[in-house]
Amino acid sequence: MGTVQEQRETPANAALQSGLTPRKILVTGGAGYIGSHTVHMLLAQGHDVTVVDNLSKGHRHNVPAERLHELNLSDTAALVRLMREKQCEAVIHFAAFIAVGESMREPARYFINNVSGSLSLLDAMVQAEVKHIVFSSTAAVYGNPHTTPILEDFPIQAVNPYGESKVMVETLLGWFDPIHHLTSVCLRYFNASGCDPDSLLGEEHEPETHLIPLLLRAVQTGNPVTVFGDDYPTPDGTCIRDYIHVNDLAQAHILAVEYLIGGGTSEKFNVGTGTGHSVMETIRAVETVTGQKVPYVVGTRREGDPPSLVASSNKLRERLGWSPRYADLRTIVEHAWKFASRK
Ligand code: UDP
Repeated sequence: MGTVQEQRETPANAALQSGLTPRKILVTGGAGYIGSHTVHMLLAQGHDVTVVDNLSKGHRHNVPAERLHELNLSDTAALVRLMREKQCEAVIHFAAFIAVGESMREPARYFINNVSGSLSLLDAMVQAEVKHIVFSSTAAVYGNPHTTPILEDFPIQAVNPYGESKVMVETLLGWFDPIHHLTSVCLRYFNASGCDPDSLLGEEHEPETHLIPLLLRAVQTGNPVTVFGDDYPTPDGTCIRDYIHVNDLAQAHILAVEYLIGGGTSEKFNVGTGTGHSVMETIRAVETVTGQKVPYVVGTRREGDPPSLVASSNKLRERLGWSPRYADLRTIVEHAWKFASRK
């Protein structure tokens, strides 16, 4: 498979041509799935992007080589030097471990990587006088909400160390604003999915735990996927999730950066489409797009899975003018299939 280095970067004056001001932005975890899509979109809009990634989960081929700095977030001094050298105006912070099940087995790794790493980054931002950060948060901060759609002021009650690590970073950000005047936007993602239809980027987790790539893999290999429970209190008994296209997520980050640089106050926003789809509906969408049957077996529930997670994203729409371009599940699956078929 090719690399994004083979794709041509949009000229640096693209932002000016489109009426945008080019920004100097540092992206942590920019070689990962959502990070690389955001980096790609930022570059296409003419922004000056510096990527920090230790490549423990991300992929070198996702980022232009000259943009990538292989660094651990724990290296505060190196982050300070880099932010000063690049004169960064804002940070978009993706770098984190993301597997719920793993976090239940190895909580210390999650808290050290996700919380200590973020703290080191915030310390570096204070030293380098970078005043704005957009943080990758998650719907997992809400735990098992009793009703949907979920609003931003619902109780915060994570039910696993992964979600708790994100709650803790949101809490840290709450202190850095009044004390250091560091403003933040926390974007609480629902189910990131799909991929950019016009580039070589896609979802490549190892191991893969996410539903859509697993369903596509089942079609390709003939090995059945396990549906985690069909006895939930939902219309067809399988869990309902709000699948949000990764390009629409990337767009939310860019709007959030502009909002903060433009003087916006610290905020938290859900990012989802507002429409939920069950596991069975998702299987049907994959069958429609691929024209093939998805081999599956029904298994037991996966520990910690809430029956239904659907966002209200009205706040993001109203405050930042965001609206999803690829809101329907079929398009998301089509884009993911395009990537999966290429491999
Ligand atoms: N799921 C499933 N089988 C799998 C992987 C996921 O039935 O092999 C279900 C899972 O229980 C959840 C939905 O698909 O209801 C989405 O799971 P995913 O891991 O993609 O995202 P999560 O909602 O956990 O963030």
